[in-house]
Amino acid sequence: EAKRSGKSRYVIFDDSMRKRVIREMILENDLRKAIENQELVLYYQPIVSLETGTVCCVEALLRWYHPTLGLISPGEFIPIAEDSQQIIELGEWVLREGCRQYAEWSERLGYSAPSMISINLSRKQFICPNLVQMVESTLQEFNLDPKHLQLEVTEDAFASDVNEAIQAMKEIKNIGVKLAIDDFGVGCSSFASLNQFPVDTLKIDRSLVDQVIRTKGMAAMINSLVVLSENLGIMLISEGIEEQDQLTELTKLGCEYGQGFLFAKPLTSEVFEEYLLKQSGASIASTPQLVESN
Ligand code: C2E
Ligand code: MG
Ligand code: MG
Ligand code: MG
Repeated sequence: EAKRSGKSRYVIFDDSMRKRVIREMILENDLRKAIENQELVLYYQPIVSLETGTVCCVEALLRWYHPTLGLISPGEFIPIAEDSQQIIELGEWVLREGCRQYAEWSERLGYSAPSMISINLSRKQFICPNLVQMVESTLQEFNLDPKHLQLEVTEDAFASDVNEAIQAMKEIKNIGVKLAIDDFGVGCSSFASLNQFPVDTLKIDRSLVDQVIRTKGMAAMINSLVVLSENLGIMLISEGIEEQDQLTELTKLGCEYGQGFLFAKPLTSEVFEEYLLKQSGASIASTPQLVESN
């Protein structure tokens, strides 16, 4: 009996693995047509000042509306795109669409527009020889000042070849575009990397933020990141803030910026714009002299 159930478990495992492989093959294949079929959409999540709630930046997050399988998350299809080299084309689409949308906002909303759009790069894009040229021509196409664009890379992008990574970073910095380390604190994060790499922004991973109200050690670590980033002139952003208690603690620790469901989930461009206008409206309304009495 034990043998039988053991065997059936093995069969179930095998079957789910087969299903997964088939789904991956379907996704890899269908991804080739996703751009021309206009199935890709960017969502936008605000990055806010923790003290005032004012939106300072926006992160673009990719979504894929598959015609039959529905919404596919980037966590599932980005790794597939990376393995099949499609990430270069996909990444180019993300950059163009993000820049197009940002340029539209800054023209239409002026000072209410965020000061920067942050776009994720995967490792393959980051070390691609013509990345800088592609970024430059996109900025020109939409007549955007490079200071409004930030590129986010995770530390695995420079784990294998440090010198290659520093070279790529310098080239990005040379054209005036900002650079962020994403998901800091997971994997093989090291404080040394902050000194070694010319980064403008550090994004503390959600898993660390999650622990900040639970463990004293994590609060101390985040506080030292606050001190370090202040001394190095780096912008510090806490990711994945979901609870008021986390916000309170992070503010107490001196963390200036954050993003997370507590403020807003990633939003469609229309809803993000409404959020922006509501935010700037709220800050005008809270200025006493501008509030009408009755
Ligand atoms: P990321 O760049 O670290 O983005 C943050 C992720 O955390 C997003 O997931 C976002 O929806 C989620 N998030 C934000 N606030 C909260 C919160 O309070 N709680 C929780 N539980 N989650 C929160 P998403 O959009 O599914 O993206 C996952 C990852 O996929 C991104 O992580 C990024 O690494 C990658 N990705 C997304 N868009 C792109 C893209 O255009 N290009 C590349 N290369 N990668 C992308
Ligand atoms: Mg990111
Ligand atoms: Mg992140
Ligand atoms: Mg991530």
